[in-house]
Amino acid sequence: MNGYIIVLGCKKCGKCDSVCNTGALERVDGTARIDHGKCNLCMRCIVICPNKALKYLE
Ligand code: SF4
Ligand code: SF4
Repeated sequence: MNGYIIVLGCKKCGKCDSVCNTGALERVDGTARIDHGKCNLCMRCIVICPNKALKYLE
């Protein structure tokens, strides 16, 4: 996969806090932020986000 994940409309709920195994996902002032260099596109964060704030773009 060559795409990446974007954050749009994060509700700062924290549900994604513990799902990322690579350290790519962190929250800054509550809002999720993805380090594309670390992300392996496992999609765990997308699956767990109840607000559909994380999207995969090809
Ligand atoms: S897709 Fe996987 S590796 Fe990338 S930020 Fe989400 S949980 Fe972390
Ligand atoms: S689970 Fe979704 S809405 Fe909640 S902090 Fe993470 S990205 Fe934001």
